[in-house]
Amino acid sequence: MTDKVITRFAPSPTGFLHIGNARTALFNWALAKSLGGEMLLRIEDTDKDRSTDEAIAAIITGMDWLGLDYAGEPIFQSKNIDRHTEIANQLLSEGKAYKCYATAEELTQMREKAKADGRPMVYDRRWRDRPESDAPANTPFVVRIKAPTSGEIVVHDKVQGDVHFKAENLDDFVILRSDGSPTYLLAVVVDDHDMGVTHILRGDDHLVNSARQITIYNALDWHIPTMAHTPLIHGPDGAKLSKRHGALGVEDYRRMGYLPETIRNYFARLGWAHGDEEIFSSEQFIEWFSYGGLNKGASRIDFAKMENVNAHYIKASEDARLFDLMVSLAEEIEDETALKGLTKHAETVREALPALKTRAKTILELNKAAEFIFAARPLAFEDKALAATQGENLDILRNVQPVLQGLNDWSHDGIDAALRAFAEQNDLKFGKVAQPIRAAVTAKNASPGCFDVLLLLGKEESLSRLSETTAV
Ligand code: GLU
Repeated sequence: MTDKVITRFAPSPTGFLHIGNARTALFNWALAKSLGGEMLLRIEDTDKDRSTDEAIAAIITGMDWLGLDYAGEPIFQSKNIDRHTEIANQLLSEGKAYKCYATAEELTQMREKAKADGRPMVYDRRWRDRPESDAPANTPFVVRIKAPTSGEIVVHDKVQGDVHFKAENLDDFVILRSDGSPTYLLAVVVDDHDMGVTHILRGDDHLVNSARQITIYNALDWHIPTMAHTPLIHGPDGAKLSKRHGALGVEDYRRMGYLPETIRNYFARLGWAHGDEEIFSSEQFIEWFSYGGLNKGASRIDFAKMENVNAHYIKASEDARLFDLMVSLAEEIEDETALKGLTKHAETVREALPALKTRAKTILELNKAAEFIFAARPLAFEDKALAATQGENLDILRNVQPVLQGLNDWSHDGIDAALRAFAEQNDLKFGKVAQPIRAAVTAKNASPGCFDVLLLLGKEESLSRLSETTAV
């Protein structure tokens, strides 16, 4: 019988839920599900100075928003510290780890020497073989693991292939600090083992850690999980995604009006491929997921592409859901005008959604596009819309007003017939009439077409707007 597949997502709660980490979660989620297993969430909160409750909340709500479910409750690494310490002491008593009394000055010397020799700093193992009787009294010590001194450590990576590390470059690293606290390298191995993790998939910035952690697995004679490291996400300029590129946290994407299915689809595609498929559902992603599809190189985020994916999912969304998202986004970003307008004109906005959603790339754009429905008069015109209501167009608008005023049948067909007759009488192309009307009643450069907006606004509001625009 093979073990049930268990993956884990193990973020450190020191800030927002970074989009790169969210993608690691997404891959772990798909990996687990594609193999009939489950993903666990472990919050690595041992660094009490840097971990915050807000960051923990951001991780949990971010996962929830993305629809990445995990088995059971989140596991807090800080609760396992006694167990980490117990394992460190076990390694110590088995002679697989040792107390190191090297002072800060000694370590600085080692570092400077390494620098002068142009090689990475490796602790020179000066306490590895010294007898306990050499230990200075009442002096703090760290516990170091006895790492192999020669040969290689090989990480059998499912994405990169075998990655070889020379033992001489990996030194006897610390597993317990001088204050008795376990290090990250130890804590992760112990937790992964205790949680029954069978597959580790994380960013390739952890590759060297994996090599070190293999030393711990071997010392404990524990089974090494299957490992995979994915390249990081880069910004459009090819540099590692950073603050400079904006949009680092999952919540930034939500606040920009992206849908969770866009994030799942686009960010999966950014580091993984199944043929040429660009748009796929999460079910397809899970079905198609395999290590072989993961990229070996870093991927560049392309916001234009991502917007197109979002436009696709907006178009495919139910109007009722979109309306709710518009309201909750207005709430989240404290856009009082939109919030009031959407609530007051809920019915009209819902009616407008089939037309609005074909043009919007984000929920934010959808809110902007709906503004003309609840905009306060006098309307604040966008430049091109204003231009479209001036000059000869102003005459057209003035002349068409009585025609619309006298129209009793305020329906698509009624308006169509009246405007066509007007255009004909004045020897104008239909668009020459429709376009200024659309601009005059919406004040927007882009909006649904003339009929749609007149019908949505109704006769009274449309005519009030028209007369206000032409009153100048
Ligand atoms: N807590 C680590 C991080 O946020 C990840 C640990 C791991 O995946 O092993 O980078």
